[in-house]
Amino acid sequence: MRKHIVAGNWKMHKNNQETIALLEEIIEKKEANTTEIVVAPTFVNLLTAVENTKGKGITVAAQNMHQAEGGAFTGEISASMLTSIDVKTVILGHSERRAYFHETDALLANKVDTALKHNMRVIFCFGEELKDRQIDNHFKVIEYQLRDALFHLEKSDWSNIVLAYEPVWAIGTGETASPAQAQEMHKFIRTLIDKVYGHEVADNVSILYGGSVKPDNAKEIFSNPDVDGGLIGGAALKAEDFLAIVNAF
Ligand code: PEP
Repeated sequence: MRKHIVAGNWKMHKNNQETIALLEEIIEKKEANTTEIVVAPTFVNLLTAVENTKGKGITVAAQNMHQAEGGAFTGEISASMLTSIDVKTVILGHSERRAYFHETDALLANKVDTALKHNMRVIFCFGEELKDRQIDNHFKVIEYQLRDALFHLEKSDWSNIVLAYEPVWAIGTGETASPAQAQEMHKFIRTLIDKVYGHEVADNVSILYGGSVKPDNAKEIFSNPDVDGGLIGGAALKAEDFLAIVNAF
């Protein structure tokens, strides 16, 4: 059975003290729930987050990592650095990494391989730009992104892959894909995975939606049969909003 997951991508927000305060509030206010809660603070606060969430039912994830095992890559972080502090989930392929740091699907394929080699779970982000949707090219774009970054994987690798469909035009814009648009794309993705890897992989992979999910639209988006959770940006920075989204299932 696939899991419901709500992941908060904190991006370059929250210093060390603010990280502790936000986590304390999430821990204090969260209700018993079968939905997995993931938080992704910036690298420098990961260890603090791990220490402050121990035994509290919260998964700490990194927002990125380098594909190499180690070496002369100033400013970068490796998979083994993450796992050594108990961070075993990593977000890869976020549209901001693609747009501002020129990450391509070929590079992301390498990053995914490195993460899986270290037994990490990958939350893999992908999504079309507005111009693709305007010319009705969005299904093709999604198919190529998945093919180029993930379809070299073995069937068994998929137990460590979570997909996050994030239409770029809906990220941080207040513009959300309608529940029908989200379901249409999530169904397309699951059908594609089914064609390439078969029913078992397709049924078991969690597909999250990301793009301006807020407390007031989460329920409608999550009520779709192929939407298994959300990757949340802005609304993950306030405990109440984030938890309202978690509770929307
Ligand atoms: C994101 O950055 O992954 C995201 C979904 O952001 P927001 O929720 O702010 O649109």
